[in-house]
Amino acid sequence: KRALLAGQSAIVTGSSSGIGKAVAIELGKAGASVVVNYGHDTKGAQECVDAIIAEGSRAIAVQADVSKEAEVQGMFAAAKKEFGTVDILVNNAGLQVDSPFIDMTLAQWQKVIDVNLTGQFLCAREAVREFRARGVRPEISCAAGKIICMSSVHEVIPWAGHVNYATSKGGVMLMMKSIAQEVAPWRIRVNSVAPGAIRTPINTQAWDTPEHYAALLKLIPYKRIGEPDEIGRAVAWLASDDADYIHGTTLFIDGGMTLYPGFEAGG
Ligand code: NAD
Repeated sequence: KRALLAGQSAIVTGSSSGIGKAVAIELGKAGASVVVNYGHDTKGAQECVDAIIAEGSRAIAVQADVSKEAEVQGMFAAAKKEFGTVDILVNNAGLQVDSPFIDMTLAQWQKVIDVNLTGQFLCAREAVREFRARGVRPEISCAAGKIICMSSVHEVIPWAGHVNYATSKGGVMLMMKSIAQEVAPWRIRVNSVAPGAIRTPINTQAWDTPEHYAALLKLIPYKRIGEPDEIGRAVAWLASDDADYIHGTTLFIDGGMTLYPGFEAGG
């Protein structure tokens, strides 16, 4: 059986750790060649590249700050030089800079919007330019290209103490849908994945002690934290032709976190 993403190449932003790393590895397992983008963590990026190569696919590490236009353009140029084109963009890079709203500085607000929202815009725009110029290659995929935005349950769940982060993910939702509407005639598919609580360095304090983990489980009807590879497998499928009619939507992967768990007992 042909691998799900055979002959395709992908860029995964922020794939030196956490969810992005798992996504890059799963895309590699599905047969894609992968650009492992990273900001500063050269070691993490190299580990990810090594893991993909060990599974039999191609991979390179490319440093670029996704919030910088010229660096994003340089990353796409490097991807095209190495793999010829780009078929899949996973807009994963993201961060939190938490603060009570009343004390939040403009710098804290801007940092999160720049990386989580503007970074996704810059990468998606470069991807659309490449997909549009190349068009569909029917022997490779039904679509000219696929974009998957890493959103969060906080595209719908408000989050006190994290106003900048929740705003960025709410923005990602309508950015994704608006791009999807605009580029569909060019056979470009655009979707989001919205993880709940996944065990990564971004949220260590939510699972690092039994007390913290017990508190977290109150928010998760399925009563366990998610693992990065669970997001990775879903992204690989969403990027494949098996999901060819899925367009402009968000796939929540959250153990039920968006089911209003406070209402579990009825009333
Ligand atoms: P993480 O901190 O392990 O990974 C974030 C990655 O983004 C890192 O590799 C980091 O180097 C990279 N990055 C940050 N700023 C960058 C920049 N300017 N340019 C390039 N790369 C940059 O955290 P994670 O949990 O793996 O987060 C990945 C994505 O998943 C984020 O968008 C996050 O919002 C989202 N998410 C995570 C969870 C969760 O529970 N872990 C839940 C919902 C959404």
